[in-house]
Amino acid sequence: MTFLLHTAIGLLILRLFSYNPFLFLILAFLSHWIADMIPHFDLPQMSKKKKIILGGMDVIFSISLLVSFIVIFSPSIYLAIATFILSLFPDIFYIIEIFTGKKLLKKIFFDFHLRIQNEFSWGWIVELGFLTTILYFIFSK
Ligand SMILES: [Zn+2]
Repeated sequence: MTFLLHTAIGLLILRLFSYNPFLFLILAFLSHWIADMIPHFDLPQMSKKKKIILGGMDVIFSISLLVSFIVIFSPSIYLAIATFILSLFPDIFYIIEIFTGKKLLKKIFFDFHLRIQNEFSWGWIVELGFLTTILYFIFSK
């Protein structure tokens, strides 16, 4: 699943449960694992360079969404950044692996994380639908 959709889910959770930081931080972390079970899109096999470019674009879009959220809703910046990191947390281990070749905490963040993935070539339609809906709920109220 794209970083952007994970970020949007995390920020929606922050928006809904902003009264309880403990709750929204836990939920942001859990949301990643649950969201990865929903049918979604994944990049096909491609070179490391292409992966870095597309992943980098995804990171830039995600950070842009985070910054827009902070500017519009002025939450605690630290809590918003913590929510962002926790909602992407398992994928951060892939980024570390791309750059260092090391699979840290392999059983959880690679073996288990890969087992729960539900990826389809048409999964981008599902992701787009979720993203649009979630962005609507974040920014409409
Ligand atoms: Zn993931």
